[in-house]
Amino acid sequence: MQILVVEDERRLAEALGQILREKKYMVDLAYDGRDGLDMAMSSIYDVIILDVMLPKMNGIDVAQNLRKEKIATPILMLTAKDQISDKVKGLDAGADDYMTKPFSPDELLARVRALTRRQGEVVMDTVEFGDLVLNLSTCDLSCGDKSVHLNFKEFEIMKILLGNNQNVTTKDDLIVKVWGYDSNAVDNNVEVYISFLRKKLDFIGTDVEIVSLRKIGYRLGVKKDA
Ligand code: CA
Repeated sequence: MQILVVEDERRLAEALGQILREKKYMVDLAYDGRDGLDMAMSSIYDVIILDVMLPKMNGIDVAQNLRKEKIATPILMLTAKDQISDKVKGLDAGADDYMTKPFSPDELLARVRALTRRQGEVVMDTVEFGDLVLNLSTCDLSCGDKSVHLNFKEFEIMKILLGNNQNVTTKDDLIVKVWGYDSNAVDNNVEVYISFLRKKLDFIGTDVEIVSLRKIGYRLGVKKDA
């Protein structure tokens, strides 16, 4: 789960980031509305936490612009005071929920959980491809009665490859979605994790393989019978 926090009060932004990271969310921070909008346009986020009063572009305008561009990422709006007008404007602009400052970490996490639940209409426990099954709650990858546990990044990569079915996933896409928008990860990091995943696929004896397309990326395929 990737979350974008758009908040100009740096201490609050950092605190939000810390609370969310402790719960294993990946967090990117933006400190003004312009940057927030640019980053949110990438549509890689599962939730956007958006302050109303922001330099360069206010949160209401950011939300409106996103919805106009058909970016449907759930937005949790932060309002400074308990101002009814801000809430109404925010919800009108396309926010999904709002929270009044100050708020407790528990309230924040509860609202983020609610928004991420609302996003997926059908909560799937497993994703399948060929004879391969990925369990989304345990992070186990299995084929028949053999299974292997995936670590966090392996799991995220596998989930993306499975989600794209046999379509190509680019390395850039994997870097942004798995390592984050402003990480220093490079192609080499991706290659290392792909090789870990290939070993695990071999280990469970699946017919599914990760096919490399030079300079483009990866896709899943099914090994042809010899
Ligand atoms: Ca502010």
